[in-house]
Amino acid sequence: MPSIAENIARLEKGLKQETKLVAVTKTKPVEALMEAYQAGSKRFGENKVQEMVSKFEALPKDIDWHMIGHLQTNKVKYIAPFVTLIHSVDSFKLLKEINKEAAKSERIIECLLQIFIASEETKFGLSEEEAAEILNSPDLAALTHIKVIGLMGMASNTEDTNIIRTEFRGLKALFESFKKLENDRIEMRELSMGMSGDYEIAMEEGSTLIRVGSAIFGSR
Ligand SMILES: *Cc1c(COP(=O)(O)O)cnc(C)c1O
Repeated sequence: MPSIAENIARLEKGLKQETKLVAVTKTKPVEALMEAYQAGSKRFGENKVQEMVSKFEALPKDIDWHMIGHLQTNKVKYIAPFVTLIHSVDSFKLLKEINKEAAKSERIIECLLQIFIASEETKFGLSEEEAAEILNSPDLAALTHIKVIGLMGMASNTEDTNIIRTEFRGLKALFESFKKLENDRIEMRELSMGMSGDYEIAMEEGSTLIRVGSAIFGSR
């Protein structure tokens, strides 16, 4: 089996110029993260607040921490002092809470709106209409400690690559259409799509951040 370092090297080599790798480290021990770090990977994705905080405390401080999982408003305060990018904003209420906690830490926290693009029922995310509503809201201007810098989405869990491609293409089109809404609080520059099973399609469809776990660290 290839090592973590070999997996990262192979992935990095295949990246398009506009695409960055987020190594998804959820459930993996700090030793595995350290191995990835030593292989040059400094952008880690976690989906649970407590796990991210304890790994942040244990590991070097030049790591960028990406929250990729569903985030409850009452837990924002634990990650606000250090999180680099929150991929999973799925309500205006959450955005307001992130703003409040970012202000306490004297930071501006960058966020992505998570858009529901899959055909499955279980996944979190906003509809296109709900996302447009947030971006068009007059209340957004007051949230001076957040910046919405793009969108995130997860494609359907299917073998049918046509379905996956169509979902990613739709998200990219939405991302492009939101550029007309850019202002002090909105800048559409990151499109987070693609995981171990579908990152190649996602890159072809314009992803700027792929979130890859099992293809680096093995299955969970
Ligand atoms: C777990 C997870 C990933 C990574 O999944 P892999 O299939 O292991 O690459 C990507 N994005 C999100 C939101 C996840 O929860």
